[in-house]
Amino acid sequence: KNASGPSVEELFSGVLSGERKSLARAITLIESNAEHHFKQAQELLHLLLPHSGKALRIGITGVPGAGKSTFIEAFGSYLCSLGMKVAVLAVDPSSKISGGSILGDKTRMEQLARNPRAFIRPSPSSGKLGGVHRKTRETMLICEAAGFDVILIETVGVGQSEVIVREMVDFFMLLVLTGAGDELQGMKKGIMELADGICINKADGDNKRNAEKTMKEYNQILHFLQPATKGWGTKAYTCSALYEEGIKNVWNTVKDFEETTKKSGVFAERRRAQTKEWLRAMIIDQLQTDFFYHPVVKDLLPKFENEAIAGSTTVTAAVASLFEKYFEAKN
Ligand code: GDP
Repeated sequence: KNASGPSVEELFSGVLSGERKSLARAITLIESNAEHHFKQAQELLHLLLPHSGKALRIGITGVPGAGKSTFIEAFGSYLCSLGMKVAVLAVDPSSKISGGSILGDKTRMEQLARNPRAFIRPSPSSGKLGGVHRKTRETMLICEAAGFDVILIETVGVGQSEVIVREMVDFFMLLVLTGAGDELQGMKKGIMELADGICINKADGDNKRNAEKTMKEYNQILHFLQPATKGWGTKAYTCSALYEEGIKNVWNTVKDFEETTKKSGVFAERRRAQTKEWLRAMIIDQLQTDFFYHPVVKDLLPKFENEAIAGSTTVTAAVASLFEKYFEAKN
């Protein structure tokens, strides 16, 4: 035992037995930027790793107002009612700038937050995208070791973050709204090609008809796109998160997906590829940090920048010299 809290062994057994307090503490350890916490966190992860990997990992993205938190509340509560344990995590690279996380916020999912089978954790707010990425991944592994059956990872569709979430989940769902005629045209094909399912939300009241029309439009477009997952045809559905309609259908789709991809081997193949990709991403992240924070680079970069801007050297030559100085200093 150390002064700052429970030992790694105590956290390990606490997390494994599904204790909330240990789970929360373990995640805090992962999210900490202190160096001695980093070592403890990695020790803990090493112990927990063999107990992770059994949950179904689902990513949910959509523009603000699409209904993500309402959907997660309905979907998560439904899964809990089936006897499952659900963890909700968030990837929100903007939270540092906005000064507070708008995702995975308990006040946005009050009903689910009170459910003893659910666990909601807001996005780690500190650090760069790479750091948020690592922390969310490691938090996911800890939740799995704690016995959660489904991990929901929420993100706002703002470019980089949905690619990162796609890289850590089995099933990726895009939540959209109706009246998407123009939106559909403008929507990047890229994000549709990441999705294993597209759900048109707010299919209720006067909007129901429109939602069904939108669903058909999406299905027509999907027909021409590259599927996100080999052997799986991405389709559009309608739902009403508010009135809890179509929620069961979404879950059945996810289960169908799981069965199909597990049988074909695509499920395991993707997880292997994701681990490989994660490793590469972390190496790149580390290299970047090491390079840009190196005193020699910090010192010389402005000079080389100015020279390149002034045209007294080429960019390629500037980069080559900078690397030369960097490696010289490292040796
Ligand atoms: P988020 O920003 O994507 O998390 O969206 P929210 O879940 O906060 O929802 C935005 C607004 O849309 C809220 O006022 C919700 O009550 C409303 N909303 C969400 N889902 C539905 C739905 O299925 N039907 C209707 N009519 N309104 C909804």
